[in-house]
Amino acid sequence: MKSQWKQADADACVARYGEQGISPALALRVYTSRLIGGDPTLVLHGGGNTSVKDEARDALGRPVRALCVKGSGWDLATIEPPGFPAVRLAPLLELRGVAALSDEGMVNALRVNLLDAAAPNPSVEALLHAFLPHTYVDHTHANAILALVDQPDPVHTCREVFGDRLAVLPFVFPGFPLAGIAAEAYEANPDVEGIVLINHGLFTFGETAQESYERMIRYVDLAEQALAKGRGGKRVFAAAPPAADPALLARVLPIVRGALSRAGEGEPRRVVLHHREQETIHAFVSDPRLGDLARRGVATPDHIIRTKNTPVLLPPFDGDEAAYAQACRAAVTVYVDDYRRYFEAGALMSQTEKTMLDPAPRIALVPGVGVLAAGKTEQEARIAADIYEHTVSIIEAAEGYGVYTPLGEDELFDMEYWSLEQAKLGKGAEPPLARQVALITGAGSGIGAAVARLFAAQGAQLVLLDRAAAGLESVAGAVRSGAVGVLPLVVDVTDRAAVAEAMDQAVRRFGGLDLVVSNAGAVWQAPMADCSDDDLRASFELNFFAHQTVAREAVRVFQRQGTGGQLLFNASKAAFNPGPLMGPYALPKAAVVALMRQYALDYGELGVRSNAVNADRVPTALFGDGVLASRAKARGLSVEDYLSGNLLHRPVLPQDVAQAFLALALSAKTTGAVLPVDGGNIAAAPR
Ligand code: ZN
Repeated sequence: MKSQWKQADADACVARYGEQGISPALALRVYTSRLIGGDPTLVLHGGGNTSVKDEARDALGRPVRALCVKGSGWDLATIEPPGFPAVRLAPLLELRGVAALSDEGMVNALRVNLLDAAAPNPSVEALLHAFLPHTYVDHTHANAILALVDQPDPVHTCREVFGDRLAVLPFVFPGFPLAGIAAEAYEANPDVEGIVLINHGLFTFGETAQESYERMIRYVDLAEQALAKGRGGKRVFAAAPPAADPALLARVLPIVRGALSRAGEGEPRRVVLHHREQETIHAFVSDPRLGDLARRGVATPDHIIRTKNTPVLLPPFDGDEAAYAQACRAAVTVYVDDYRRYFEAGALMSQTEKTMLDPAPRIALVPGVGVLAAGKTEQEARIAADIYEHTVSIIEAAEGYGVYTPLGEDELFDMEYWSLEQAKLGKGAEPPLARQVALITGAGSGIGAAVARLFAAQGAQLVLLDRAAAGLESVAGAVRSGAVGVLPLVVDVTDRAAVAEAMDQAVRRFGGLDLVVSNAGAVWQAPMADCSDDDLRASFELNFFAHQTVAREAVRVFQRQGTGGQLLFNASKAAFNPGPLMGPYALPKAAVVALMRQYALDYGELGVRSNAVNADRVPTALFGDGVLASRAKARGLSVEDYLSGNLLHRPVLPQDVAQAFLALALSAKTTGAVLPVDGGNIAAAPR
């Protein structure tokens, strides 16, 4: 590992933040924190923390010595000055004299000494940073360090690699106890340049940002060299098999997703899956020692919140879907039972009441497939996958050097069930479509775009299909967020092979599918006797057969998952009450209503619900240029009066139709139903 410090960049950072009134000391703190955060082999996803002791101003503008330490919710890769809440240093130092301090007491002491009451919570390691006298302190969970501190005799290993330039501390729970012990370790030998924490990570410190950062890099580099020398080029895992066949993934992922979603009792608790399969992962999941290696646990306690301590090991897929689903469910049941036992044993030893977390695994390992990470959202699943990918690298490095020996389960329980983490439980209810994957056709404009916006706001992960790329990209860009993963696909829904491929892509991206809004359509108009067969067939292709293709492919995924599913069709008022010249459009739409009912009938047993929305006079591009005007003229009305020609005298907008789709999506006991969205039209009421 090499230092990424560039004097010109550091100077530019000082100048840029200086214009905003930020001190050079804090500007350089931001600069090297980002250097650390930018390297995933040093820290991952909010891991690690850094600080600077600096002069800040109190409410009256008086100078005050403060600790500016990473705040919770910030990531070192993207941190900005507000990510370093300033805490008065003097009262923190007085805490060293206190015999004991609970985690809640520590958080309170940090918060009451903030110089900005609105600042985020300072890191739980803030007191460790405070008690060390150095201006800069850096802390990482670097892969190479973890491979050395997770060894059978890690103190000896660390002394051999780092000599006496680093203090070596056994594992101590982060927070107040660790802060005091770390300060004592430094005071016992003021020549040390850092502290290595067994089973946890590395702290370095210095008088300048560059010194502290470059010490971090130097010791990680020493660790990397020691690991390479210890391994001597030998292969740790068996040779990797070839990457999985995409068609096989499309079959396996929904089965695994279904098994993970049905880990508990009652209603399925769905997850979004993220798949990883680079060579090292394939080699790891195919290794004969996988069971032993994977069950040893996380490389640093921080990771347990994201990946749980161990993954679930699933068998390879042999082509028999039903048998495979059963085998996956059995493996998940054993995992969940083991987890319950671990929780009950830990809770029994605990001083305070504990609430069990979701017992389902976060990581599934499948030979021939790779790593499948689970989360409430795609982003959460990706984070778990990133962490596990690094865990595999750490296991490989540790086994190449010696024997991978991370922290035991008992101590990890305290970390997983930390009172500060438990306090967060139950806060922030999930939106109603959270954990669901929804596919919407015709999503680039009109009703489809309105459904995409509404479903995104309700927490669904989205697969958006449209024939035209331009509208699709702009809708996808508008709805994509940290909580909402979006897969836009340019697909003509009358192309059966393209729809099947889109469904496979959706499954490979999110692990499965829960909800389909089959919406794409277009209007054909002609008096029936004058309508050519070609036009009528073309209308049936889009307004009927495309719905059938989408529904059929979705049901195949639902069958593999075994967690129900939903089909929502955009029918039309024309299905019940055709207007003049609307025959070529009304006929296939009437067939869609029959199709919807048939799916409700045939797949109700699987928990699949099938419903339709029956909208009328919605001003969208569906009507094309002049169609709306001609429809209004056919009834002797202005366009405005035509659009408001309903019992409520109010026009029906795409977002009103989207609301109706959502209402059906959330009506857990409704299937085979048609919901009109027409402002009231008794003549068109379904019967
Ligand atoms: Zn840490």
